[in-house]
Amino acid sequence: MAEPKSTELMEKIVSLCKRRGFIFQSSEIYGGLNGFWDYGPLGAELKRNIKETWWRAMTQQRDDVVGLEASIIMHPRIWEASGHTSTFSDLMVDCLLTKKRFRADQIEPQSGTAYFYSGAIDENANTKSSDPYSVLLPPGKPPESARKVASQFYHERGVEHPTLLGERTEKVERSTCYNPENGSLLTEPRPFNLMLKTYVGPVESEDNVSYLRPETAQAIFAQFKNVLEVARQKIPFGICQIGKAFRNEINPRNYTFRSREFEQMELEFFIRPDEAIEAICGIVATPGGPQPSALPPSPPASARPRRNEVEAGSPQPNWGWQMWHKYWVEERINYYESIGLPRSSLVEYWQKPEELAHYARATVDILYKFPFSKRDEKGELAGEELEGIAARSDFDLSQHQRFSGKPMTVFDEELKAAWAKLDDASKTGLLERYRESRLKYLSKMGDVTDKAEKQAREDAEAFTKGYYVPHVIEPSAGVDRLALALICSAYGEDRAPDEKGKLESRVVMRFHPRIAPIKVAVFPLLKNKPELVQKAKEIRDLLRPHLTVFYDEAGAIGRRYRRQDEAGTPFGVTVDFETLGEQGPELKDTVTLRERDSMKQQRVKISELAGLLIEKIR
Ligand code: ATP
Repeated sequence: MAEPKSTELMEKIVSLCKRRGFIFQSSEIYGGLNGFWDYGPLGAELKRNIKETWWRAMTQQRDDVVGLEASIIMHPRIWEASGHTSTFSDLMVDCLLTKKRFRADQIEPQSGTAYFYSGAIDENANTKSSDPYSVLLPPGKPPESARKVASQFYHERGVEHPTLLGERTEKVERSTCYNPENGSLLTEPRPFNLMLKTYVGPVESEDNVSYLRPETAQAIFAQFKNVLEVARQKIPFGICQIGKAFRNEINPRNYTFRSREFEQMELEFFIRPDEAIEAICGIVATPGGPQPSALPPSPPASARPRRNEVEAGSPQPNWGWQMWHKYWVEERINYYESIGLPRSSLVEYWQKPEELAHYARATVDILYKFPFSKRDEKGELAGEELEGIAARSDFDLSQHQRFSGKPMTVFDEELKAAWAKLDDASKTGLLERYRESRLKYLSKMGDVTDKAEKQAREDAEAFTKGYYVPHVIEPSAGVDRLALALICSAYGEDRAPDEKGKLESRVVMRFHPRIAPIKVAVFPLLKNKPELVQKAKEIRDLLRPHLTVFYDEAGAIGRRYRRQDEAGTPFGVTVDFETLGEQGPELKDTVTLRERDSMKQQRVKISELAGLLIEKIR
């Protein structure tokens, strides 16, 4: 069975993370705080590199995305508009025995025999409970175990020495009503709000309630108009943000995967409604449809230019939401590949219609095959969500328009000009479709029919003059989940020669140089030779303005390599007697450059070192 192996691997990874200072439990000296984590020296660098590569890829290397950094606590009405106050509530179930809480959608279906009881009595103490209860036993377990669990349940309810009443059994197939850990019946699913509440100002009253943001996205919508005004952008364009988010997760687990405090990297990419594209371009390009300007097929990763030079110029004016959605899925997968997650470790999961949020037209989850991921029927790791890429229609901005009373429409000169040139049949058709889509949204949000119809007519009328609420594609990723995926993906064990050439096992973190916490380690061969030490320090100072450098002179050189292998440092530079010219002039001012993965060594001129390394880590 592969299961124990995965657990063992995860244990090794967790232990390395602590030992080498990637991740520590928050507040560890006080026993820790469930769902909160701290990043040590290497983890902090790793996270910075992740955020840096994302930010560069998403905004600095593109013309059509700008950045934002908003406050964590915002006006509570934002969370009403977004639906978080009323519906950011996952359905929860509690174990009737232990009170442990689970997310209803995460209960594994189970089969077996259910033992039902109508109550229990303690005749000596004259106490009784008539609460119905049941326990599910997997095939092969003796009835006594069900009776034991049921007795505990009634004992908790005040029946000290319970005699169980009305036992009957029933075969159960794939039920999610029982606690997978102990077989106890669970409560009915009920909503639980995941937002962390606080009070703003000195008075702890209901009027001062605020929330720590459960996602970074809403600030982008709330600031949409301000950014549009100053950024000199036109639709289509995006706004991105990196920042902390907080969710009072019921069941934080799988190390940092499900935390209560985490960081998100989110892009809201605003696009024209398809009706506007049709009015302007005559036809909307869709995947698989007639699309002269469809995405070119992706070349293999090795042949691909560095990301963002990639598909510059690919997006076309006639792209509808489906093309943009597909484009962003591809862009995001390219990004993961560019920082070292192989495509084969990722799964592109298209949510089924019944799984979609009510406003979403399509959502693709990018999953990473973590060692703790569930396995599919074939025994393959199924993957867990790293990022969701949702086509969210015009829902978000429309909601903020309704709740704030401020218009979130944009004026599209091209639409206005194109509309004037349309024939009457096209005008009628597009107007009707736009009106219908607005009506659908308004009615869904609870507007009464007359009001919704009037508003939808007005929106459609404004559309003919070039005004609309932009639609949005949202790639939303988690920094911490990505850090964990990169750590899991980098972890490796192999054998390397020690000083005497004897093979010993080593743990090696094969981070892509772009995200490796330390890029290069510099070692003087010997600590007690001042000339070597001085030269090594000169090299450290030479490289430092360009890369993260770690200088290490302690211990045998093999040990020092091993430490850097565990930290995932891709390059090691050793200063030896050749460097000083003691073995002849030809090797003077050269060093040994050692490559972490292949362990190959080459002689490099000090004057060429910085250029060479920068090229390798770019
Ligand atoms: P899940 O179903 O796993 O709870 P979600 O669908 O609620 O995730 P989103 O709301 O789409 O997640 O959030 C976007 C991203 O934020 C996720 O893909 C994930 O990377 C990250 N994220 C969400 N919740 C957490 C969490 N509790 N801990 C760490 N990262 C998280």
